[in-house]
Amino acid sequence: TKVLLTGGSGFIAAHALELLLHRGYEVVTTVRSEDKASKIREAHPGAKLTVAIVPDIAQPDAFDDVVQIPGIDYVLHTASPFHYKWKDAKSELLEPAIVGTTSILRAVKQYAPSVKRVVVTSSFASILNEAGLQDPNKVFSESDWNPNTYEDGITGTPATSYRVSKTLAEKAAWDFVANEKPNFDLATICPPLVFGPVVHHLNSLESINTSNGRFVDLVQGKWKEEIPPTGVYFWVDVRDVAAAHVNALEKTEAGGKRFFTVAPQAFSNQDIIAVVRKNFPEYEKNLPGDNVQGGGYPDGGVPKADNSRASKVLGIDWIPFEKSVVDTVKSLKPHGV
Ligand code: NDP
Repeated sequence: TKVLLTGGSGFIAAHALELLLHRGYEVVTTVRSEDKASKIREAHPGAKLTVAIVPDIAQPDAFDDVVQIPGIDYVLHTASPFHYKWKDAKSELLEPAIVGTTSILRAVKQYAPSVKRVVVTSSFASILNEAGLQDPNKVFSESDWNPNTYEDGITGTPATSYRVSKTLAEKAAWDFVANEKPNFDLATICPPLVFGPVVHHLNSLESINTSNGRFVDLVQGKWKEEIPPTGVYFWVDVRDVAAAHVNALEKTEAGGKRFFTVAPQAFSNQDIIAVVRKNFPEYEKNLPGDNVQGGGYPDGGVPKADNSRASKVLGIDWIPFEKSVVDTVKSLKPHGV
């Protein structure tokens, strides 16, 4: 059984790749450059793995060649910008996210009739709304959609632009299957902040993926005087996200559904500090003391998350917070923290 995995150089995709190979799938993965391709090949000697170069996913015909590799059964589309280093939201964020999604779906429909299902990595960003994030009585689930528009993505804060990129990419995917009625069906995975061990190649700690950046900052002492606000209080471990993607290929009943893959318990930056303090005495000198405020929960509490569909249909067991934090920090050590 052959799976096409886009964005194989990424944090989440590297775990999906490991799991796919572990479960015996043959994998074709795409990256932007030969340099990234060779790092992935080196990490998996002897694997049933092809690494292909797709330089720019924002081109409408970006995936036309790679999907013509014979016999692809499933597609996992993870490639999409998740960083705030762009200058122009339209060309560097919104287009790669939205056109990247429609271009792979169109290419599969046109050239890869063997594909049975496409799983798209969406995000809690496509579920949330700003008011709900402040409301302790709100329960977020797959029935919620982010109401922000393309215009908000151009004029809003960088966080809003990213959220719009994910929302409109996921909407475009559902619209595509509704309108084009392709041979394959669709499932989408919507994780909140993804924590967990780094298994992909990192050129340096500065190139840490966005959602793990806070662990690097903490152990390097950047929170010593001031703890940043937690932001969104929902998180999930990357190994559960990888399992959600692969299980979504394997479980018939996952077809046609979106999945809010979120760990059962909320977290705060204070909780991260407590776990690091308990497990890594070597970083004590870099941690904020008990007198440093911030990074906790709001007085009224935080909204809730309903992960019952992902638990039931995808069979996810949810890795606990302490394990996730400990394994994340351990994985950073070889990179020099
Ligand atoms: P990474 O930044 O590690 O991975 C992003 C991947 O997308 C990389 O392979 C990257 O390639 C590729 N990519 C980004 N922009 C482009 C582009 N313009 N053209 C081609 N490829 C591109 O982040 P994650 O692993 O965290 O993200 C993977 C997916 O998960 C994304 O869709 C993201 O939106 C989603 N997600 C992530 C969450 C998180 O907290 N981590 C939460 C919810 C969703 P390259 O290595 O060349 O940059």
